[in-house]
Amino acid sequence: MHRLRFLLVLVVSACTAGGFIAVDDWSPSSPELRDSALTFQQVSRSVGAAAQKVCQRETRGQNCDFGILIDTDPFAEPNAFQTLDKDGRPFIIFTQEMVKSTQNADEMAFVMGHEAAHHILGHIARQVKNAKEGARIFGELAEAQGEDAAGIERAQKLGAEVGVQSYTKEFELEADRMGTLITYSAGYNPLVGMAYFSRIPDPGDRFLASHPPNAKRIEVVLETAAQLGLTR
Ligand SMILES: [Zn+2]
Repeated sequence: MHRLRFLLVLVVSACTAGGFIAVDDWSPSSPELRDSALTFQQVSRSVGAAAQKVCQRETRGQNCDFGILIDTDPFAEPNAFQTLDKDGRPFIIFTQEMVKSTQNADEMAFVMGHEAAHHILGHIARQVKNAKEGARIFGELAEAQGEDAAGIERAQKLGAEVGVQSYTKEFELEADRMGTLITYSAGYNPLVGMAYFSRIPDPGDRFLASHPPNAKRIEVVLETAAQLGLTR
């Protein structure tokens, strides 16, 4: 969900993977979380299988063997994100607090479907490409303007950021669209699942607008759901 974390994890995943546990090995001790964990495990199986099918249909040569992990750190903020291990296997990671903050299986499935869609749509690779492209263009401009090495490096860093930022909103909406399809084919209701948006801060007026406003995201989900014959 949170783009900055998404990129950060891409770089550090190899070092931090030990802090995460496979969803099927998750057995929290608190009774209230135990029920959520059982529901979450069930959702993981259904959405994992549905996402794998869509991935195999929509991609060529991409690893479609989704692993779902829990970050059990009780101090980690509610968050879900997608990353790749060094062999290109996709992982979807939910923090324990994220699972707690969902209100039902449909919301869990919706968030998971969205993260799976980021992988199927190749968003990590596309972001890396955009970052490189931005760095190259800004670097060349700085060089043409006679900047010294430090100035060129500063320009490249800024260019990489601009390259990433320029597409994040589109990527989120693309992931919402495909995530709706995955949620539905896994047997959950995306219209119930999207209620999650109504409880998270609207980036339309916060967070430097790296994410599209919630209203726009809801519109995309409603449109996609209508194509599936689902209405509120
Ligand atoms: Zn996202």
